[in-house]
Amino acid sequence: MSDNPKFIYSPDLLIYNFGPQHPFNPLRLKLTIDMINDFKLLAPENLLEPQAAGEQDILLVHDRHYVEAVKRAGEKGEASEEDVQYYELGTEDNPVFVNMHAAALLLVGGTLTGAKQILSGKADHVLNVAGGLHHAQRAKASGFCIYNDLAVAITHLRHQGMRVAYIDIDAHHGDGVQWLFYDDSEVLTISFHETGKFLFPGTGTIYERGSRNGFGYSVNVPLEPFTEDDSFIEVFETVVPEVLAKFQPDIIVSQHGCDGHEYDPLAHLSVTTRTYGYVAKRLHDLSHKYCSGRWLATGGGGYDFWRVVPRVWTALWAEILGRKLAGDVPGSWLARYREVAPKSLPEQMEDPEDLFLPKPRRVEISEKNRLTAEKVMNWQFLMKGDPQQASLAK
Ligand SMILES: [Zn+2]
Ligand SMILES: [Zn+2]
Repeated sequence: MSDNPKFIYSPDLLIYNFGPQHPFNPLRLKLTIDMINDFKLLAPENLLEPQAAGEQDILLVHDRHYVEAVKRAGEKGEASEEDVQYYELGTEDNPVFVNMHAAALLLVGGTLTGAKQILSGKADHVLNVAGGLHHAQRAKASGFCIYNDLAVAITHLRHQGMRVAYIDIDAHHGDGVQWLFYDDSEVLTISFHETGKFLFPGTGTIYERGSRNGFGYSVNVPLEPFTEDDSFIEVFETVVPEVLAKFQPDIIVSQHGCDGHEYDPLAHLSVTTRTYGYVAKRLHDLSHKYCSGRWLATGGGGYDFWRVVPRVWTALWAEILGRKLAGDVPGSWLARYREVAPKSLPEQMEDPEDLFLPKPRRVEISEKNRLTAEKVMNWQFLMKGDPQQASLAK
């Protein structure tokens, strides 16, 4: 059966831009789309333009007073004192830019367009690399995220009767999505991230397991700094297949932030392209196993946008297409960017095994991660929506 996958893209997505000094640089999208095109992986029938979300869509998850504040700040191009204080707009992480409301609506619309496409049966797999803004909260911007595209799309899917499994492998905890569905037994959230002891946003402990009916439906696997591929893959395998088998989702929504890469400047995990390729393949398999192929994937974090992001998300799109890429980064892509890149660009799509020396505490780190994953799984019998168990959560 053909999957008929869709790639969401429009150059207008590049308007979401916090300025040249900010790590969330739209170049990350541009470099990715160029690499995908240079591989000739984007046939016209695969390309889908994002439809901007409407205000009624974002009001499914965001408070009106917050949305009004985003609009006002975006019209003026500057934040008031209240915006900073109450909404975290105009901070170092979330600077205000002109038309930010419209730019964020388009980005949310990309993921929502993907969800609708899957619901209509027109596509099984959809990728929105511009999406994945997992930190945005009900009434607050956070971590470069103004509106939460994932939560809007998940709410829409939920209203159409879908049981949603959300899987987040960004180096940062998927807190915004988790809190927005914390009480909900129809939305399972699983986040793998660097432990909040050392990294923004500080949450995502194993003890955050959901509340009321949602108790047992929030799963967190905080990882040690310097976690490498083998350990990441091991804990992913310990947790994801079994939890999905219990939950029996109708659709997988996944966030593929690649800021856990060894090269990433903002986090301290040490995985390589091998982890990202592995996770993409497994989620692809699992979407067919449990969800008749329904799989909505997004980008997310990733701040080494020259060396990491384009290769990881191009490989993700190739996986979605069921294609295996040749080993080399396209020569045309290298020719275009070699001169302007501040760093020397990798010439292979996959990192070499000796990308860096083994971390000195590799064994201890792996053992600690293994124990974390085992603890998480020992509790998963609670995931039954059982009212008696649910009452324990209060
Ligand atoms: Zn497929
Ligand atoms: Zn991140």
